[in-house]
Amino acid sequence: MKTPRLLMPYLRDLPADLLPLVEQIASLAMDLRWTWSHAGDAMWKIMDPQLWEQSENPFVVLQNLSYERLQTLNQNKEFRQYLDHLVKARNDYCSYGGWFGEVHGDVKLRGVAYFSMEYGLGKALPLYAGGLGVLAGDYLKAASDLAIPITAIGLLYQEGYFRQMLDTSGWQLEIYPYNDSSSLPLRPLLAHNGTWLSIPIELPGRTVQLHVWVAQVGRINLYLLDSNNPLNNALDRGITGKLYGGGEEVRLIQEIVLGIGGWRLIETLELAIDICHLNEGHAAFVTLERARCFAQKRQIDFQEALWATRPGNLFTTHTPVAAGFDTFPRELVMKYSQPYVKDPGMPLEELMAFGRSNRQDESEPFNMAYLAARTCGRINGVSRLHGQVSRNIFQKLYPRWPEREVPVTHVTNGVHVPSWDSPWADKIWTLFCGKGRWLGSEEALAAEIRKLDDTTLWTLCGQERADLIRYVRQRMQVLLGQRGADMEAVNQVDRILDPNVLTLGFARRFTAYKRPNLLLHDRERLARLLTRVDRPVQLVVAGKAHPADNEGKRFIQEWAQFSSRPDVRNHVVFLEDYDIALAQEMVQGVDVWINTPRRPWEASGTSGMKVLANGGLNLSELDGWWAEAYTPETGWALGDGHEHHEPGWDAVEAEQLYHLLEKEIVPMFYDRDASGIPGTWVARMRASMAHLAPQFSSNRMVREYVEQLYLPAAATFQHRTTPGSSAAQELRQWDEQLKKSWHEIHWGNLIISRDQEDWVFEVPVYLGGVSPEFVQIQLYADPVAEEPPVCETMQRGDEIPGAINGYLYKSRLNTDRVHTDFTPRCVPYHPDAHIPIESHLIHWWIGIMAP
Ligand SMILES: *Cc1c(COP(=O)(O)O)cnc(C)c1O
Repeated sequence: MKTPRLLMPYLRDLPADLLPLVEQIASLAMDLRWTWSHAGDAMWKIMDPQLWEQSENPFVVLQNLSYERLQTLNQNKEFRQYLDHLVKARNDYCSYGGWFGEVHGDVKLRGVAYFSMEYGLGKALPLYAGGLGVLAGDYLKAASDLAIPITAIGLLYQEGYFRQMLDTSGWQLEIYPYNDSSSLPLRPLLAHNGTWLSIPIELPGRTVQLHVWVAQVGRINLYLLDSNNPLNNALDRGITGKLYGGGEEVRLIQEIVLGIGGWRLIETLELAIDICHLNEGHAAFVTLERARCFAQKRQIDFQEALWATRPGNLFTTHTPVAAGFDTFPRELVMKYSQPYVKDPGMPLEELMAFGRSNRQDESEPFNMAYLAARTCGRINGVSRLHGQVSRNIFQKLYPRWPEREVPVTHVTNGVHVPSWDSPWADKIWTLFCGKGRWLGSEEALAAEIRKLDDTTLWTLCGQERADLIRYVRQRMQVLLGQRGADMEAVNQVDRILDPNVLTLGFARRFTAYKRPNLLLHDRERLARLLTRVDRPVQLVVAGKAHPADNEGKRFIQEWAQFSSRPDVRNHVVFLEDYDIALAQEMVQGVDVWINTPRRPWEASGTSGMKVLANGGLNLSELDGWWAEAYTPETGWALGDGHEHHEPGWDAVEAEQLYHLLEKEIVPMFYDRDASGIPGTWVARMRASMAHLAPQFSSNRMVREYVEQLYLPAAATFQHRTTPGSSAAQELRQWDEQLKKSWHEIHWGNLIISRDQEDWVFEVPVYLGGVSPEFVQIQLYADPVAEEPPVCETMQRGDEIPGAINGYLYKSRLNTDRVHTDFTPRCVPYHPDAHIPIESHLIHWWIGIMAP
C-alpha cells in the first residue's frame, strides 16, 4: 500500500535520498508488533535516546527525528545493517506459515473477521476501556503469532480511554486527551485511485461516509472506521468521538457503524471471509448486513440468506448477568432500521423480533445479545463457569429446553504472554523453553519449567520486585512534583516500599461487584498486617472507576485516604491512571495478585493470568478463570465456590482474606532456609508457572477457537454457501414446515414394559403436517447425582393402522435408573441443522404412562 504523503506530516518535503531509510524505519514503527517483540528496542534508543526514554513509542521517535539526525543515521553503515536485519526479521515473521500453516494448512479457512468495540494493544493506541479491549488486543497478537488468517474491525475514537487523576481529597477526575490520528501509528486506507477509502452507511435522512485507518498488528490488519470526515455533518463527525460515550442513541449508531460499516468494508475490500467473530454483542448488526449482501448477490431472499450465512457467525458473550446486555428502546431501533428494511425478505417486525426473548412481546427492549444469539451459529462464554452461567441467562431463548442443552459452550480466556512477561522472566523462559515457545502448542512447556531451580526462581522474583519499586518511586516523584509538594516530601519518596518485602497487587476497574474495598473491611487489621516489624507487607493498588460510577469513585477515595495515613504511608501506594503500561509493571513485580469479585460476576478476568509467567501467585475468589485454575499447589482461593446473596457474606470473605494472609501467605513468604530462600513459596511459583501460565495463555485460547469453533463452523458455512448448493433453501423450507405444523404433533399413551434386563418404551406419535424425516423422537433423562443424562433416539416403527402420519416409536434401554426418569420428546431433525441453536422447537410427552 502506498503511503500518502499528504497525510503523513513527517514525510512532507523529505529529501529524496532519505526516503528509503524513512520507509524502512516506518515499516517497523507502524507495526505494533513492537509492543510485544523487543528485538528492536535498542535501535530506537540509538536513534534518539531521550525520545525513546520518554515515549517508548517508535512512532513518536520516527515523527520527531530531524533531517540532520536522519542524514547521520543514513550514513552510519552499522545502523543501516542493523535496520536491514530488523526489517528482514519482520518480513520473515510475517511470511512464515506459523502454527496454522503447519497444522491446518490443508484445511479451508479462508478468513475470519473479528469485530470488537475496543482494542487494547498498548499505550500508543488507546482505543480500549478495560478487560474486553485488552482481551481483543491479546487475541490479535496471538493470532498474528500463530498465523491465523484474521482481519480485525473496530472504531477509531477521537477520545479513547480517559486518563485518571485524583484531586487532593482522592476523588477521581477524568481527562480525555484528544487522539490526533496523525500522531497514532495508523495509515489511512486508500482506494485504488489513490483517494481515501470511504464506506457509506445510511442513517435516517442522510448517508454517513466513514474513513478507514489501518493499524498493523504483526501480520494482522486492524481496520478502524472513523466518522470524523469533513464530508459528514457536524453531529455525525462525532459518532466515533468517544468510546462508550454520548448516550444511548450515539451508542446505537456506533454499533451500526461497527456492524454494518464493518461488513461493507469487507465487501469493498473483497475479502473472503468464512467466520464473523463477534467479540461481545455490540457488533451483532454485522450478521444482518452479511445476510442482506449475500441475498443480493445470490438473488435470494433474506431468510434463505440467513440460513446460508448463520453458521459462519460466532458470538462470544462476556456478560455474566442478563442486566449487562446492551439494550435499546424499540423506537430507537425502529428509527434507525428504516433504511435497511426495504428488502421484502426482512420486514421490520422480523428484525425487531430478533432482539427480544419473546418474539411477540413488543414491550421488550431490543437486546443486542439476543440478536447475536439468533443470528450466529455458535455461542461461547469465556470460562467454564461463565459458560454455565450463560446457559442459564440465555435459556429463555430456548424455552422448555433443559438448561444443560442451551447451546452455549466456552473457551476460557488467556493472555498474550510476550506482552506481559518481564525481561527477567522472558530470559528464563527462553533459556528453558526456547524462543518459539508461544508460537505453537504449549503442552510441553510445563515439563521444562518444572526443572527451574530454587535460586533461579527466587532471584527472578527479587529482580522483578526491585524493578516495580523503582518504577513506583519514579512515578510518585513525578506526581508529587506535579502537585507542587515540597522538596522534603519529594525526597521521602525513596522510603516508599521496600524491595525485600512481600508485595501484594490489586488493580482493576473500581466497581461494586469487584469489591475493591474488601481488603479495607477492617482497616486496623490491615494496617497491623502491613506494618509488623518482623514480617512486613506492602500493597500496590490502582484502578479507574467509570466516570458515572460514584460508588466506584468512593472506593478509590477510600484507598487514597488510607494510603496517606502516616502509619501505613510507606506500605501502600495508590497509583493513578491504571492502563496497560501500568498493568505491565504491576503484574511483573508483585508476589501476590489479589482479586475479590463477587461470584459469579467475573465472567473470566484476565489480570491474574498476567502474573503467572512472571512467577506471581494468585489469591482470588473462586470465580471466572480461577474457578477452573485453582489448585492448592498453585495459589489461594477465596469463597466457597458458591454464590451468596446474604448481606453478611462480604464480612465472611474479608475474614477469610485476612486469615489467609496472616496465617498462610505471610508466614510462607518469610519462612527462609539457610540460604535465605522460602522453599514452599518457591515451589508454588514453580507449579503456577509450569501448569497455569501455558494453559491461560492466549496461544491456547486462540488455538481452541480455531479448532473447536472456526474450523467446524467454516465447514458448515462453506457447505451452505457453495454456489449451486441447495442446502440453505432446503433448510429454510424445512424450518417453515416445522413452524407451521409443529402444534399438530401429539402423543399417544406411553407403554413401558420389562424385557429381561431391559426397559422397553413404546409411544405412538401423531405428526400432523410434519414429515417424519423432519423430527426425531428422543427418550430423555436429566442427570441425577452420579448418573449422566440420557438422550436416546427412539426407533420409528410402522405406521399406526388407521392413523394418518402416526407412528409407533420404540426404545430399549439397559439401565439401573428408574423408568419414571425417562420422558420422550420430539425435536426437529435435519442432517445439516444444528439443534437447538437453529431451531429450538421442542415438544415433551404428556399423557398417561402405563408401566
Ligand atoms: C488486564 C487488564 C484489565 C482486565 O483486568 P481484570 O482484572 O481481569 O478485569 C483491565 N484493564 C487493564 C489496563 C488491563 O491490563
